[in-house]
Amino acid sequence: MKTIGLYPGTFDPITNGHIDIASRAAILFDQLVIGIYDRPLKSLLFSTEERIAMANEALKDLPHVRVEGYSGLTVNFARQLGARFIVRGLRVISDFELEFQMAQINRKLAPEIDMICLMTDIRYAFLSSSIVKEVAMAGGCLEEMVPPHVAGALAKKFADAKARAEANVKLISLRD
Ligand code: ADP
Repeated sequence: MKTIGLYPGTFDPITNGHIDIASRAAILFDQLVIGIYDRPLKSLLFSTEERIAMANEALKDLPHVRVEGYSGLTVNFARQLGARFIVRGLRVISDFELEFQMAQINRKLAPEIDMICLMTDIRYAFLSSSIVKEVAMAGGCLEEMVPPHVAGALAKKFADAKARAEANVKLISLRD
């Protein structure tokens, strides 16, 4: 029987930290599905189609990896795929607290599905989609944070001042 893993997230946009986790997780399974959560209630910078396209391009050289959008409970999507494992990445202690809580709830909802957490590579320990968006919005260099096509998509999104003003980007004040 094939082992299938699901690596879910919002990937708004995919970063080198996500790509590193996906590359390492791909070795663990016969098939790895990158699940892109379609979160209609929360406004994201990129549409689901854009997030899927960027992830597809970023992961195109990884064998046995495919990208799919989903909505609803992650465990239900995992069941639909026949995935027994959910992969998550851990950076700092606060990631652990959130992942621990989600793992307990997911386990209650779907006891047959287990969670595997991979530690971030130290090069990406500081990296998140939010940070990347804030740097892009302020016109900073994104080298080593995202692949060139993602940097291009971000530059395009923030090309005009109106887009910058209307973008729903959580700021941690890199500019103060
Ligand atoms: P965010 O980057 O905002 O945490 P996601 O929901 O897209 O967003 O993240 C999906 C998964 O990838 C989560 O488990 C998250 O902890 C993990 N992840 C995100 N960035 C990194 C990184 N730089 N290194 C390791 N794991 C990461």
